[in-house]
Formats: sequence, structure tokens, C-alpha cells
Amino acid sequence: MMWVILLGPPGAGKGTQAQALSSRHGWLHLATGDLLREAVTQETSLGKEAAVYMKQGTLVPDRIIIGLIQERLSSSAVIAGCLFDGFPRNLSQARELDRVMQQQGRGLDRAISLEVNGEALVRRLTSRRVCGRCHRVYNLLTNPSKAGDRCESCGEDLQQRADDDEETIRRRLAVYREDTEPLKDHYKHQGILSVISGDASPEEVGERIEDALGRPSPGR
Ligand code: AMP
Repeated sequence: MMWVILLGPPGAGKGTQAQALSSRHGWLHLATGDLLREAVTQETSLGKEAAVYMKQGTLVPDRIIIGLIQERLSSSAVIAGCLFDGFPRNLSQARELDRVMQQQGRGLDRAISLEVNGEALVRRLTSRRVCGRCHRVYNLLTNPSKAGDRCESCGEDLQQRADDDEETIRRRLAVYREDTEPLKDHYKHQGILSVISGDASPEEVGERIEDALGRPSPGR
């Protein structure tokens, strides 16, 4: 059983890699961004509250996120493992996750930090398209859908995310640097951080991640 975190700025490829990794290993894929977007689409009260922050590119309050994670973990069977994608996003969420793991009598196995430089991220995000139903991620320039403007997996229309405009992207990158990047030190101290360059094809990056997961944790 593996418990893994994927860190990295928006556009680094977390979603693409998380989908591939979790289906390969049979892990539960827990993406807080996807859960929030579902709540926004369904217009639940949680979704209405979260939408305000998401549109601005700032973080949704911790209590909403922790509630989502707890609900999802208690309602899903985690058999082979769990992959957190886009969570934790700040130190207080990381501490909360440490506490939840401790309650379960175990620790996180690995934190993977996927790294890509800032201008490449803006380019990737402005050309990103996503499936609103199954959350599969495409890119108009580097990874277009073979089904045109529909999803190859489920046939749904592809969409541009409401927060993938240049101004919001720059805000999200700043929030990442300010709030999320410091988590690398948190996991480095725990001896479970692996830093991986995300500047390659999805297949190549996937191999780098598998290599890192197959090696003993650095510093352990
Ligand atoms: P993502 O799909 O991971 O890029 O997340 C999209 C947006 O959802 C972010 O810009 C935040 O507004 C919100 N969000 C996702 N995950 C979190 C989290 N763990 N904590 C706070 N806000 C989050």
C-alpha cells in the first residue's frame, strides 16, 4: 500500500501523471481541484463558496478542503494506495494530513515534486483543455484529443477551465510559490521528497516518477 503526494505548480502535469499512475497501480486518485469543480458544476453550497476563490486563483479555505478529503477517504476503499493531487497546498493542510496518517497508524511514502519553469507553464495552461465529465486532460499544442473537441475516453465536449486565463494563471503561480512550494522543505525533513523535472513528454516524465517510486526514499 502506497500513499503518495504530487506537488508542483499548476501546469506541471500533476493531473496527467496522477491519472496514469493511479490507473496503473490501482490507487485512489484524490484531486481536490476535480472535487471542487464537480461541486461548482452541481451548484452545491460548498461549490458556490469555493467558486469565488477558484475564479480568483486563490486557495479555497482549509476547512472546506479538509472536509472534502475526509469525506472522500471515509467513503472510498483504499486498497492498493492513494495519490493526492493538488493537496496539500499549504503547511496547515500538510500538518492535517500528517495527523490523519498518524491516526491510521502509517506515514506518507513519498512526495513527488514535479518542476517546470514559469513561462512554459503559462504556455501549457493557456492551451490546456479538460473533459468536464471524466477530467481527462489534453493540450491543443502538445496532446490534442484524437476526437477533436470531444474527449477520447467518454465523448464529452472538452472545455477550457475558467481559471486558465493568463491573469488568473499568474496569480495561481504566485500562490504556489508563496504557500505550496515551502512544503518541499516539510517533506524533505521527513526524508520522502523526490524532485523530478516535468519538462519532457508525459511518457518520459511518467518513467521518471516510476523510477523515483521504485527507489528507497531519499534520506530515509
Ligand atoms: P487545481 O485543479 O489543483 O489546479 O485547483 C484549482 C483551484 O481549486 C485552485 O486554484 C484553488 O482555488 C482550488 N484548490 C484545489 N485544491 C486546493 C487545496 N488543496 N487547497 C485550497 N484550494 C484548492
